[in-house]
Amino acid sequence: MTETNGTRRDDAHQERTDQLTFQNPVTRYPVVEPPIQDQPEPGLDVELEPKTDRGEFSYRGTGRMEGRKALITGADSGIGAAVAIAFAKEGADVALNYLPDEQPDAQVVKGIIERAGRTAVLLPGDLTDKNFCERLVEDAVNGLGGLDVLVNNAGKQIAVESLEELEDEQLVDTFTVNILAMFRITKAALRHLPAGSSIINTTSIQAYEPSPDLLDYASTKAAINNFTKGLGQQLAPKGIRVNAVAPGPFWTPLQVTSGQPKEALPEFGQSTPLGRAGQPTELAPAYVFLASPESSYVIGETLNVNGGSPSP
Ligand code: NAD
Ligand code: MG
Repeated sequence: MTETNGTRRDDAHQERTDQLTFQNPVTRYPVVEPPIQDQPEPGLDVELEPKTDRGEFSYRGTGRMEGRKALITGADSGIGAAVAIAFAKEGADVALNYLPDEQPDAQVVKGIIERAGRTAVLLPGDLTDKNFCERLVEDAVNGLGGLDVLVNNAGKQIAVESLEELEDEQLVDTFTVNILAMFRITKAALRHLPAGSSIINTTSIQAYEPSPDLLDYASTKAAINNFTKGLGQQLAPKGIRVNAVAPGPFWTPLQVTSGQPKEALPEFGQSTPLGRAGQPTELAPAYVFLASPESSYVIGETLNVNGGSPSP
């Protein structure tokens, strides 16, 4: 961790107020003005500049997920990490999936979950492997002693200027991670989820407002919305609720692993009505709401958390 003026950079968010403090959303966080940077996929939060707030100090739990058991994919960094931290602070034990190269980020999140007094089960593995998707669910169930929340959050996003330049390998990988793995993991989880369980899928504002350089990614996000609404109806009679969260621009490692054109990074998120990119922990309350029993009549919904951009 780098020392800057005697303070550890990773602690930049230590002094923040929590999510329940009355405050102005415009100024809750400074405008993110990232320097142009590049990381190889999958990217690490520990290398990201500036650092993100995933809620270690700023998320306050209120006992809304006491004793729950959650599996979260892409849980080492960014949005998934913020959700894992919030779930733990709400009283849940969490199984975290991520790619083996992301072990340094996963260790950080595990430490935060354990300091919150909860269990973190680390389950690294590649979601493009069909067999791993099934094994992941079994390992999560064994590690947690059951399962009643599934957050399908892992995602691949690589910007490509033209369709002619979109390699078939990227096309297949993006669809496999973003939507096929979601089908496979959810299918494997169904035999374990009791009535009262919640499935939450991470989609995107790209589902309705596709960027011209994200054709493959945006298509998968539209598919996720559709999957959520169909499956929500199928599982409602069993007492299992399926919903989605659609983030707008959030500052995470996804953006510096070619998720955005490099030159777009310094202005990232500034065109939203709120005028700034979101911090990952600002998404966590949406997932907590959809996971907790308080949202018992909410099914097939996509909750938009995007700084004010009009969305269906
Ligand atoms: P992130 O890079 O922190 O998380 C993405 C995660 O996906 C990675 O940490 C990695 O663990 C996982 N992943 C990718 N390929 C994988 C594979 N083959 N096997 C297993 N895991 C794999 O970035 P994030 O922004 O937190 O992304 C989380 C989700 O949020 C993604 O679904 C993304 O599409 C969605 N999203 C992000 C934004 C944003 O602005 N950051 C906006 C809309 C939607
Ligand atoms: Mg990651």
